[in-house]
Amino acid sequence: MSKQKIQDYQGLTTSKAKELQEQFGKNELVAEKKESFLHKIFHVISEPMFVLLIVASIIYFILGEPKDGAIMLVFVVGMISIEAIQEWKTDKTLNALKDLSAPHIKVLRDGEEKIINSADLVPGDIMFIAEGVKVPADGAVIKASTLCVDESSLTGEAEGVWKTSDGNNKNINADYWRNDYCYAGTLVTQGTGTILVDKIGAGTEYGKIGQNIVSAPENPTPLQKQTGKLVKLCAVIAAVLFAFVGVVTYFNIPDHNFRDRIIESILSGVTLAMAMIPEEFPVILTVFLSMGAWRLAKKQSLVRKLPSVETLGAVSVLCVDKTGTITMNKMTVRDIWSIESDTKKVTQIMGMGCKSDAYDPMEKSMISYCEEQKITKDILFGGQLIKEYAFTDETKMMGNVWKNSDSIVVAAKGSPERILTLCKLPDYEKKIVEDKIREMSSQGLRVIAIGQMLLDSEEDIPDTINDCSLQLCGIVGLADPPRESVKEDIETCTKAGVRVVMITGDNGITASSIAKQINMPNCDKIITGDEINKMSDNELQERVKDVSIFSRVVPEHKMRIVKAFKANGEIVAMTGDGVNDAPALKYADIGIAMGKRGSEVSREAADLILLDDNFSTIVDTIKDGRRIYDNIRKAVGYVFTIHIPIAFAALLAPILGINPASLLLLPLHVVLLELVIDPTCSVVLERQPAEGDIMKRAPRNPNEKLITAKGLFKSVAQGFVIFGASFGTYFVFLNNNIDNAPLARAIGLTIILLSNLLLVQVNSSDSEFAIKSFIKLKTDKVMWLVSLGTIIGLMLILYTPLNNFLKLAPLSFSQLIMASIISIASVFWYEIVKVFKYIKNK
Ligand code: ADP
Ligand code: MG
Repeated sequence: MSKQKIQDYQGLTTSKAKELQEQFGKNELVAEKKESFLHKIFHVISEPMFVLLIVASIIYFILGEPKDGAIMLVFVVGMISIEAIQEWKTDKTLNALKDLSAPHIKVLRDGEEKIINSADLVPGDIMFIAEGVKVPADGAVIKASTLCVDESSLTGEAEGVWKTSDGNNKNINADYWRNDYCYAGTLVTQGTGTILVDKIGAGTEYGKIGQNIVSAPENPTPLQKQTGKLVKLCAVIAAVLFAFVGVVTYFNIPDHNFRDRIIESILSGVTLAMAMIPEEFPVILTVFLSMGAWRLAKKQSLVRKLPSVETLGAVSVLCVDKTGTITMNKMTVRDIWSIESDTKKVTQIMGMGCKSDAYDPMEKSMISYCEEQKITKDILFGGQLIKEYAFTDETKMMGNVWKNSDSIVVAAKGSPERILTLCKLPDYEKKIVEDKIREMSSQGLRVIAIGQMLLDSEEDIPDTINDCSLQLCGIVGLADPPRESVKEDIETCTKAGVRVVMITGDNGITASSIAKQINMPNCDKIITGDEINKMSDNELQERVKDVSIFSRVVPEHKMRIVKAFKANGEIVAMTGDGVNDAPALKYADIGIAMGKRGSEVSREAADLILLDDNFSTIVDTIKDGRRIYDNIRKAVGYVFTIHIPIAFAALLAPILGINPASLLLLPLHVVLLELVIDPTCSVVLERQPAEGDIMKRAPRNPNEKLITAKGLFKSVAQGFVIFGASFGTYFVFLNNNIDNAPLARAIGLTIILLSNLLLVQVNSSDSEFAIKSFIKLKTDKVMWLVSLGTIIGLMLILYTPLNNFLKLAPLSFSQLIMASIISIASVFWYEIVKVFKYIKNK
């Protein structure tokens, strides 16, 4: 392709891009596979629960009771629909989340700069890359400004490659990898560039070697693994009991013929197995976690990996960058001090040391300060820029070399420690400067030293900034006040047992002063980057136990800091925005990237993307993580409890020698209950707001199991009381009139259904009273829908011809009242336990 001038490139129009996309496809290595609808249905019905359901309906048909079989099938369809809807909804949610966190890129479309999904790039697009961007497609460099790219993912060569737009570059033919071309999968480590996209997706060099890179499968979360085991255990127990109940039933009915005996045995076994399998557990997890992630996304916090939602609740150390996260990243020049009492001069050199198209808030504020002082951009950037010394985390300084008609000047600025080493100051002057620096930093100002060097000819320009011998002009103090809410958030974290750790490239005195302003505990203890360099891992591990401020660190130190905390058994959340933060973000339990100022690479490495870069959002997210975990735990406990009366009714009946036709729960009824249980808990418990003390407890022990001994005891106790109430009442009614099984069953079933409804409310909190939880959700339409739905459904099955189909008899008014009272008593006793707990805590 022949080289054109940059202004000749207009970019594509949207319609042209669409056309090209049809021709070339999406810019992705492997096309995303979509699970077909049929596949999904198959997935649902291959679960053990549905196999049981199908077996039960078949048996009904064999028994010559097509009516029962048909009702069963209707229920089966109902359950499949509920599951399919839930799956569809979680899929949709997760895909939406994925799209939100997918890589984006700035392109020129319709003559305007636009940000699009990287997958939508097409050949011919003009894209803009900058530090921190992972190049999304192959293309020719048409403009570059100190553009350096790490191509190690392709070449294995760690050294950065400087890119130019110079088509005559001699490397073109000599080397396979060109210097005027950028490759997909490589990483921009410095500068900016404009690229004309040439190849996308599998056509790129990266695509060629990466054909076999299939996106990693979504691994199950720790919780999913835990419950998976639990479900398996229940299934094994169910299988054993299936056999047991089957055999007992067989011997209970010697008067039936052999075929009927076998069929009745299987049927009661199936009923029990259905009651035993906690198929809700996996559903609860996916629904709660994905809904949780969705709600977080609406609150500016984008979860990239589902397991992070669970981990969030266990976070015990929160490492955050000072600039931009704790502070507002809105800098203003507060103080300028000149060594020769010529602040105008300092101001001008400061301005000339900035990028003319500054995006760094500090440089922006410097330039606007210059303008306030009537030093316009024309004065600052009117000369010819003949060399740039780029800012790096290691040097912590940068400079520009300007050529004017009569002079060549190096304008440099950076951290005072570094700039001062390049200036040869007499001792007494050095002392004055150092005092001034200390004075400014202790006010919480970021201090920048300004230096210059005058040159006679271009040959004298030093290669690196470290080779310059500068003449100190003065120092500048910039204010970047902490965000308003931070003080309160730190207090919240302290109460919640979460330690906040401040990490900054700034100097220690500034950091400590900011820490004081926001009431951070231990704000006078500081570890500097130099100290970290000298410390062994063990020493660092010991020191981080009580130091919470790290100053003058470079991103590489973050990794060691995370390691040290993790070695102490902490669960670490860490923020990061730069290219070099990626490894630490990956290594932290929760890596948090910044949505606004973060680099693409850091976002890719993170578990969580903070869309508003705000510290308060992190604290809210931790709170939500705790709430979601709490709710999962409540839901699992609830599901456990409500299965007990169902399973034991199915187990005890054959042992008591009850005629199979008069059982409390026939398979039909078990399915009916399952139909109610699942939505009730996923709706009501998923929506539970956080409990009042949620940020006053210590973080959850990450090793603690979802079901603790205490929780299990509670569930079992509650379950048995409901079992006693429902089965006892049914049994009394049955003994009174052995021929009116439908009535006895109706009252037993009513008690279970009502108890279920009340149980979600009681179990909404372990310490707060049910009424309080109820009031919290009283404006929630969905909660009302589910609760009233149960009651209306109950009325329908009791008092309409449906009762005949479901083998139920209508209850009289007094019987209904009695059932209600029994249900209330069988559930609300736990409120008395809460009273005792409340008194004890007082
Ligand atoms: P932080 O962790 O607070 O964001 P940085 O790593 O951005 O800190 O910066 C660390 C130090 O590097 C600053 O305190 C300052 O001394 C120096 N510095 C940062 N940006 C610039 C810049 N654009 N020009 C000169 N010096 C800079
Ligand atoms: Mg910074």
